[in-house]
Amino acid sequence: MLRKPFIAGNWKMNMTVASAKKLIEELKPLVKDANCDVCLCVPAVLIPEAVKAAQGSNIKIGAQNIHWSASGAYTGEISADMLKDYGVQYAIIGHSERRQYFGETDETVNKRTLAALNSGITPIVCVGETLSERENGETENVIYRQLEQGLKGIDDVSKIVIAYEPVWAIGTGKTATDAQAQETVAFIRKTAGKLFCPKCAEKLIIQYGGSMNAGNCKGLMAQPDIDGGLIGGASLKLDFATIVNYDK
Ligand code: PEP
Repeated sequence: MLRKPFIAGNWKMNMTVASAKKLIEELKPLVKDANCDVCLCVPAVLIPEAVKAAQGSNIKIGAQNIHWSASGAYTGEISADMLKDYGVQYAIIGHSERRQYFGETDETVNKRTLAALNSGITPIVCVGETLSERENGETENVIYRQLEQGLKGIDDVSKIVIAYEPVWAIGTGKTATDAQAQETVAFIRKTAGKLFCPKCAEKLIIQYGGSMNAGNCKGLMAQPDIDGGLIGGASLKLDFATIVNYDK
C-alpha cells in the first residue's frame, strides 16, 4: 500500500480524565481490526491517562499543539520533547482555531512543524481556506501560501501528514462535497510535488477534515487523493469507530 489511510480525532478542549478513559476503553475493541492508522489528539493534561488507557491497542495518542523551542522561558507552553516523553506520536499543527484565536501564522506553523519532526513526532499540518476566500476564488492561492511557508525547510514531505480543513466546514455541519474535497486535496498533492519532490508527494498522507461523520465518511474516503480524516465533533463519541471502520 503506497499510503496507509489515517483517521485521527481532535478532541479540542473537551473531556475529563474519567470520560477520556471510558471512551478509549469503549473504542479499543471497536477499532482493533481497523485497516487504517488510528490516533486521538487529546488535550495536553489528558495525555498521560490517554496513553495509559490506549496501551496495548492500535490507538495512538496525539497532541493538539507544540512549542518550537526545546525548553526555556515560555510560560504555559509545552515542548515536543516533553510530549514525546509521554508517548505522544502525532501533533496537530496550525489548526484553523489556533490561526483564528491564538495568532498562529504560517511562520509559527513552520517552526512548530520542524520542532515536531526533530523530536520524532509526526505533525498533522492543517491548511484550508475561509468561506470568503473560497467565494473570492482564492482557495488555491491561500493553500499554496500555507504549504510554501508552513513547510519551508522540510526535506521529505512524506514524513508529515497534511489535513485539508476548509474553515467553513469545521464544526458547522457543512461538509465539502466529495468532489470539492478531492479537487483541493489533489491540488495539495500536486503543489507538494512541485515544492518538494513528486515521489514524496505520492507518499504523502492527506486527510480531509470538516464535519466528517459516520454518514459521509465513506464517500470522502473513496476519493483517490483523500487518505484519511481529521475528525472533531464525531471523535467525542463512538461514531469515531464507525468512521475508522469506513471500509467495512
Ligand atoms: C476539526 O476540529 O479538525 C474538525 C474537523 O472538526 P469537526 O469535525 O467538528 O468539523
